[in-house]
Amino acid sequence: MPNDSAFEELISIATAQDKNYNIQKIISAYEFASEKHDGQFRESGEPYITHPIAVARILLDLGMDTDTICAALLHDVVEDTQASLSDLKKLFGEDVANLVDGVTKLNQVALYSKEEQQAENIRKMLLSMSKDIRVIIIKLGDRLHNMRTLGFRSEQKRRTVSLETMSIFVPLANRLGIRQVKEELEDLSFSYLDPYAYNEIDQMLEKSKSEREEFIELIKSRLAERLAQDFNPLPAIEGRVKSSYGIYKKVYEQGRLFEEIYDKYAVRVIVNTVTDCYYVLGIVHDMFQPIPNRFKDYISTPKANMYQSLHTTVMGREGIPFEVQIRTYEMHHTAEFGIAAHWKYKEGVKGKYKFDTRLNWVRQILDTQQESNDVEDIVRAIKDDLAPEDVFAMTPKGDVISLPLGSTVIDFAYAIHTQVGHRMTGAKADKKLVPLDYVIKTGEIIEIITSKDPNHGPNRAWLDICQTNEAKSKIRSWFKKERREENIVEGRQELEREFKRNLMRIPEEELPEFLSLDMKRHSCETIDDFYAAVGYGGVVLSKIMPRLKDEYNKKYIQNQSQQSAQAFPDIPRSHSSKDSSGIVVDGIDNCVVKLSQCCSPLPGDEIIGFITRGHGVSVHKKDCINYISQKNSCPERWINVHWAGKGEASSSYYKVVLDVVGYDRIGIMADIMTSLQEARIMTHEVSGRVLKNGNSSMMLTISVAGTAELQSVISRLKKVEGVMSVDRSTK
Ligand code: MN
Repeated sequence: MPNDSAFEELISIATAQDKNYNIQKIISAYEFASEKHDGQFRESGEPYITHPIAVARILLDLGMDTDTICAALLHDVVEDTQASLSDLKKLFGEDVANLVDGVTKLNQVALYSKEEQQAENIRKMLLSMSKDIRVIIIKLGDRLHNMRTLGFRSEQKRRTVSLETMSIFVPLANRLGIRQVKEELEDLSFSYLDPYAYNEIDQMLEKSKSEREEFIELIKSRLAERLAQDFNPLPAIEGRVKSSYGIYKKVYEQGRLFEEIYDKYAVRVIVNTVTDCYYVLGIVHDMFQPIPNRFKDYISTPKANMYQSLHTTVMGREGIPFEVQIRTYEMHHTAEFGIAAHWKYKEGVKGKYKFDTRLNWVRQILDTQQESNDVEDIVRAIKDDLAPEDVFAMTPKGDVISLPLGSTVIDFAYAIHTQVGHRMTGAKADKKLVPLDYVIKTGEIIEIITSKDPNHGPNRAWLDICQTNEAKSKIRSWFKKERREENIVEGRQELEREFKRNLMRIPEEELPEFLSLDMKRHSCETIDDFYAAVGYGGVVLSKIMPRLKDEYNKKYIQNQSQQSAQAFPDIPRSHSSKDSSGIVVDGIDNCVVKLSQCCSPLPGDEIIGFITRGHGVSVHKKDCINYISQKNSCPERWINVHWAGKGEASSSYYKVVLDVVGYDRIGIMADIMTSLQEARIMTHEVSGRVLKNGNSSMMLTISVAGTAELQSVISRLKKVEGVMSVDRSTK
């Protein structure tokens, strides 16, 4: 037995484990390495053999097998001493020799170098990995111990090695699911790369240590008390604080305050079965207030590195959020040891390591690499391999929205609500205005600026900017619906044109019934569906018009003829001698007269009356479409009327609607109003909109005494700067 306390400890741990370790073989490997490295020293001044022992210990703690531990003890002998591979093969077998060979070759490639070189080196590493994954695990152990003792190296060396660790070994450890190693490597690299920040976080953690431990203990005891009602024995409950680097990332890269970090505290509950996991989740959500969008089910959807757990962030009565992780013992084991866990259960299995499905990604990267030879691809593949995490940002009200990494403010807007997305005009991140392609970072408060216009919609360019399928599909469906609106407008206009051309006039509320047959044929449920169908050409009007015209004649015109046969016994009589409308109806005294809404006749217009059923005489202009279309079908109901007082009514005023089109210039409306005011024209209603061609269209409802005054108003308005046309609206 060698006289080395670190190695003695390793042996006693290995012996104590129920894992069939070949202790004698391990001791032989130690003795061989010890002899070969004799006289060599580490930068720290310690004998060199302390390093291989420490690496072997890391691998033992990960549960690796005898050969891996032997290879760890021997990993530097070929490179640094006179020993040869054939010596190792003779003494320890082919497996150990191959593992040492793999590690030696890996040591010869400079991993952190120029990007192209780096890609090639990573490829070599992956290749060796695909032969025997244990090579990489030994390399990770080697790197971990070197990082632990990096303080003895030069400033420059510390930086280079830490950068290399951060960019290659941390992602590798993560990909292999070895959380312990990954977090320690990360924290160590960080402490060398940014010692100032590391110390600061260390101090913050130290300062709040007792408070923190108290809080975690409190949560643990509350959980234990509640879980005891349903579980016997009690599930394991662990508490932990986020790693220094995890906090650093949030504090320094995302600008969060130390106090604001959500998952600084984590409590872990470990149970026996998957069912228990979900049961415990229910209890946790019952006991504490869950924070929205912070629940992750990595049990039903494991991470690429096989990690499984339920994660949720909740808030207790203290108002401090903390994360709860729930998993089974088996999942816990995988979470801590990742790929290395494999050997814990398969110790003693002889022969080559069979390519595990877990390592398919290595194969995939190598395959693509061979095809594309795109240098950046492979570097990115490794670097982005830290399983893509989500980003969490908040609304100004404090609702947490989680989105995939790379999401923009547009994705954020649509994640809040479809309408927020559609009406979005801009965004602010932490109160600063940002462009729409701004990529959200965790912890930011995102404020979406929206238009008050309910018809405001997205821009097609957004489809290229947003990341989430949710936002994309919402934008697409808006455009589909938008086209529908356009189709409806188009279809309606086309139908109206056709009806006018055929001198048909059907009250709008009767249209669905009138068109019911055609609507059914084209499976249109509403009149808008029908318009839309006409708009996009699904219904060809020229084909259905002859039949519609025929139906129209039957339904509307013959009806009116029948009515007219009754010889107007029902015309309401007016009691005053002169009707206020200023209209004289030939042959009928004192009857109720009303100016029809469809053409709003003015004194001076040529007019004609229609004897309605029960509503007196309705007066139309002679060029009104209703008169033209129906004068021949029921001539007996049309009756001559004329303006009292020779065309220009004395005291009455008549409403008329003017359609004014002009350049959309500032102040045009004000100038129009001034002009009307100067002419002492009463204005009842004004509305305006901007036309597609950029001009503005205004509808003015004014009162005039008759056509003469109307003509003078029209010519006045035409003199207003920017006005292009003024027409009496025909509705
Ligand atoms: Mn080494």
